Amino acid sequence: MSDENAIEAMGLTKVFGSGPDQVTALDRVSLQIRQNEFFTLLGPSGCGKTTLLRLVAGFEMPTSGDILLNGRSVVDLPPNQRPVNTVFQSYALFPHMTVADNVAFGLEMRGLSKGETASTVEEMLNLVQLGHLAARRPTQLSGGQQQRVALARALANHPQVLLLDEPLSALDLKLRQGMRSELKALQQRTGITFVFVTHDQEEALTMSDRIAVMSHGEVQQLGVPTDIYETPMNRFVADFIGDTNFVMAEVLGRDGDHLRCRSDGGLEVLASAAGDPKVGERVTLAIRPEKIRLAAGSGAEVTEITYLGTDTSYQLRLGQDLALDARVQNRMQGDEHFEPGQPVSISVPDGAARALLD
Ligand code: ATP
Repeated sequence: MSDENAIEAMGLTKVFGSGPDQVTALDRVSLQIRQNEFFTLLGPSGCGKTTLLRLVAGFEMPTSGDILLNGRSVVDLPPNQRPVNTVFQSYALFPHMTVADNVAFGLEMRGLSKGETASTVEEMLNLVQLGHLAARRPTQLSGGQQQRVALARALANHPQVLLLDEPLSALDLKLRQGMRSELKALQQRTGITFVFVTHDQEEALTMSDRIAVMSHGEVQQLGVPTDIYETPMNRFVADFIGDTNFVMAEVLGRDGDHLRCRSDGGLEVLASAAGDPKVGERVTLAIRPEKIRLAAGSGAEVTEITYLGTDTSYQLRLGQDLALDARVQNRMQGDEHFEPGQPVSISVPDGAARALLD
């Protein structure tokens, strides 16, 4: 049982409406989510991530395809018979009940005794560090505390899978950042499979074991956060995750695992490649600003600098019309520094640029 996937989507398609109003929210999505994994569905608004979550929960039926939970098809099961719980962006707490009663609600419905219910409520509230607020009502709590009650309520049912639909997006930035590590710790402590939906790439990169990047109802890339960031498979993924310079280039030849490329503007790099670009072919190079190294020299010119606190951002020009953004960490006062108008040389470490075909 334990070596089975927690969730398997097999050719999952969901079409809403018909005729000119028809929308294909999911287009033959196939993916596997492992047991005890923190798995994130990441993508822009409308890419289909909530639809996928709702299909797993049973709130929607697929148009075609299958969903397996622990190796068994669940498409014919209603939501309450699936070993799944959902936490929504709106906490959906009962305002007239105390925190403890909110967490107890589902347990009493399931027929647990008063004693069992009380000890589970205590355990769950301690898990989310809210034991001391059990007697309060939701309106007397901060947004972050309310979301923790919603989490405790969902976890109290001991689901095998917890689905989280943008649970942090109603919180302010500081709280959101704090809740990231709490959620991750909670997932590790409980061993429950978390499926987390977000459009926030930083949230996805910091919390996830693996990420599926989606657009237009399809999975564009599935991998661990470093793969998604360092080796994007196409331009959409490179663009959606982090900041990137896109530069057109020609493939000059092969060099071991790398492609020797010369960009418009004359920058030569040894790039890793997505797919199999051929010698002579035009590719798009994706170069992260922090990978670009600057030194006193020639070949490029600083056109603008922006101080960002932790980093300094340099706008550079190569040749007639190639603009690049480079970012240098501000480590020590007195580090080498460049001024607008100054000629500089730029280089990119081998393998740090990514050659993309689309
Ligand atoms: P967001 O981040 O904005 O919630 P999302 O990635 O979760 O976006 P979905 O909510 O899954 O996207 O929607 C995917 C597509 O399906 C969108 O074009 C949306 O308008 C459409 N859609 C979703 N639910 C319905 C529905 N009940 N009826 C018709 N179209 C729908």
